[in-house]
Amino acid sequence: MSRFRSQSVFGATRAILWPRRIRRPLRQFHKLALQRIERHTSRWRAVPCCHVVKLALAMNSTAIDFATPGNPTEATSSAIIQVRDLVHRYANRTALNGVSFDVRPAELFGLLGPNGSGKTTLFRILSTLMIPTSGSAMVAGLDAVREPGALRRRIGVVFQAQSVDTKLTAHENLWHQGHLYGLHGAQLNMRIDEILARVGLLDRAADRVETFSGGMQRRIELAKGLLHHPEVLLLDEPTTGLDPGARRDLWQYLGILRDQEHVSVIVTTHLMEEAERCDRLAILNEGNLVALGTPEALTREIGGDVVLLEARDPKALAAEIRDRFHVEADVLDNHVRLEIENGHRFVPDVVEAFPGDIHSLSVSKPTLEDVFIHRTGHRFWNEEPEAETTVGKDKKGKKKH
Ligand code: ADP
Repeated sequence: MSRFRSQSVFGATRAILWPRRIRRPLRQFHKLALQRIERHTSRWRAVPCCHVVKLALAMNSTAIDFATPGNPTEATSSAIIQVRDLVHRYANRTALNGVSFDVRPAELFGLLGPNGSGKTTLFRILSTLMIPTSGSAMVAGLDAVREPGALRRRIGVVFQAQSVDTKLTAHENLWHQGHLYGLHGAQLNMRIDEILARVGLLDRAADRVETFSGGMQRRIELAKGLLHHPEVLLLDEPTTGLDPGARRDLWQYLGILRDQEHVSVIVTTHLMEEAERCDRLAILNEGNLVALGTPEALTREIGGDVVLLEARDPKALAAEIRDRFHVEADVLDNHVRLEIENGHRFVPDVVEAFPGDIHSLSVSKPTLEDVFIHRTGHRFWNEEPEAETTVGKDKKGKKKH
């Protein structure tokens, strides 16, 4: 693998500095090398996220909410992505357990889930970096398993790990990216200017990327992913490491991409506030699709309010509330939790019914976290299951690359 990398990445980097008589045979050489990479990667069942893969990727280069998540009513021809019964197992660990959903054209679609829920596995299958154990994933009408080469030309991919070369300028980074997709000369120059203007960095085209802020570097990553006009843009936790301002800018830009360029954007995230900005969401938990729909519809489904009561003995209080009021009352993190209509009316009644037992309480409208609790019975950030599934993660649960 390292042989390919040194031939391709560094060869391509030098190409623009060399005279034309050297560049042409060099291009031919890159093409052959990358074809070899593609032949190899299409056979790999699991491919690490590395430069070689990114190069190979580059070279190859209606309202459908299901009644039950994971059980789509019917395939729709209007969907840009169709995922059906996707299963992926790593040795004896099931990372995806029969996931099904559609993504519509020009939709901002979120894959939300805590660490270990299967987001990255799904992302890698959609971006053709991994072959699922079973099931299918169609992107822009192409099968991710059987037609990876053609599919790669139709998608842009922004990985969590940095792929820009910080020693090169913004323009140089995009120049190399363009070559990998067969763009050249004046056409490529025009497209680079266009895309740099789009991400607000045209005036920094000649500056080395190492002089950019984290947010600006992310925008160059985005520009790389978009250079070849993909119909679908896949982003893996794109705001990781960004400050709040840069996060906001990036999300604003994703909205512009959807609205003005009609790109279908699929974003993985573990952040509720980001998920709320998506048109629709697939919520994953331990490899299962636990909810699917717009953030509004998902929270509306809970109905009413969420009441949390802090008590000395929450288990006993929950049992008494169930007896007295005939409502569902669960214990979550040492609190009694109820989903109830008109929570503000229920609160005085419950306080009066159990004088002195309730130390504090809150009434709130349901959030996406409540949707997650409603569907799974536990909080989004549940440390225990993640502690058991630390493969590929550091001690804080962050992914290693
Ligand atoms: P997420 O992106 O939501 O954190 P992942 O797709 O990375 O989830 O992981 C889903 C599950 O698969 C987790 O239990 C994780 O530990 C496991 N897993 C991920 N990658 C590997 C691997 N290469 N080998 C074995 N298990 C893995």
